[in-house]
Amino acid sequence: MIRHHPSADRLTAFSAGSLPLSQALCIRVHLEHCRQCRDEVERMNQIGALLLNYLPPAPVSDSLKAQVLASIDAGEVQEAPAAGAGTAPPAVNSSDLPRCLQAWIPEGFDKLGWKRVSPSIQAVKLCNDVNGSKVELLKIRRGGKVAPHNHTGEEITLVLEGSFSDSQGVYGKGDIIFRNRDDKHHRPIASQDADCICLTAVEAPIQFTGFFGRLFNPFIRRSHYAC
Ligand SMILES: [Zn+2]
Repeated sequence: MIRHHPSADRLTAFSAGSLPLSQALCIRVHLEHCRQCRDEVERMNQIGALLLNYLPPAPVSDSLKAQVLASIDAGEVQEAPAAGAGTAPPAVNSSDLPRCLQAWIPEGFDKLGWKRVSPSIQAVKLCNDVNGSKVELLKIRRGGKVAPHNHTGEEITLVLEGSFSDSQGVYGKGDIIFRNRDDKHHRPIASQDADCICLTAVEAPIQFTGFFGRLFNPFIRRSHYAC
């Protein structure tokens, strides 16, 4: 059962297409798992389409039609998306791997090139967003503890496999969690029954707060900004 959802504001921004790519990716994965939010976004999409009909026509230049026709002749216009594209994504597919992550995970989680971050944590970087966010997969070994840390920007976490907990709750498959500068000494702990795999989008490097953790801060900063 999914207990942690994006806010209405965040879903509205997703529907309007105004979120940064890294945030939109996390929310789209959540939508594949969450019927409730999927229905909400579909309703927002329909309202948005209706509102467009009430917008006054915008003036365009006399040459616009000629430019569009010339682009079509030159083959510059991309093929129109299939029906249904741009609306809320379908429920998670039979392979149980989110559709929007499949290009990054063609052969499943086990075949990814995980890199060891600590005895409990492995990571695979997926991409950097233009807003500076780093998108990666994190695997926390069953029962593993992430060192206490503060956030210097927003961190979005979406649980793909297993579960973890922190001082504010327990999070399972499909749950999406937002953390920011107000969350001090954040310490996720994976459940004992299975490894926990999460999709994360981190706006800025985290800062470890323990003595040994602080030793890693320069490496974490370097890792965050590395291509
Ligand atoms: Zn939801």
